[in-house]
Amino acid sequence: MKLRKGPRVSVDNERCELFGTCQWEAPEVFELERNGRLRYRPRITEEDWEPAVAAARSCPMQAIQIKGVFDE
Ligand code: SF4
Repeated sequence: MKLRKGPRVSVDNERCELFGTCQWEAPEVFELERNGRLRYRPRITEEDWEPAVAAARSCPMQAIQIKGVFDE
């Protein structure tokens, strides 16, 4: 399976309350910076898929969206 376009992660800043659960679930994708901002990688690899989905499910504010699929 090759990664071409791949899924995209986005975070709704209006909803995000910086709880950091996403970083705990998927530290390769999400990072809470010292300045209190959330950084994240919008393009994920196949290895990141499960942790990113777990992060989206565990976000208390349901602020994380993952759209798209991996090409076969
Ligand atoms: S878990 Fe949700 S609310 Fe918390 S920092 Fe991540 S995106 Fe924001």
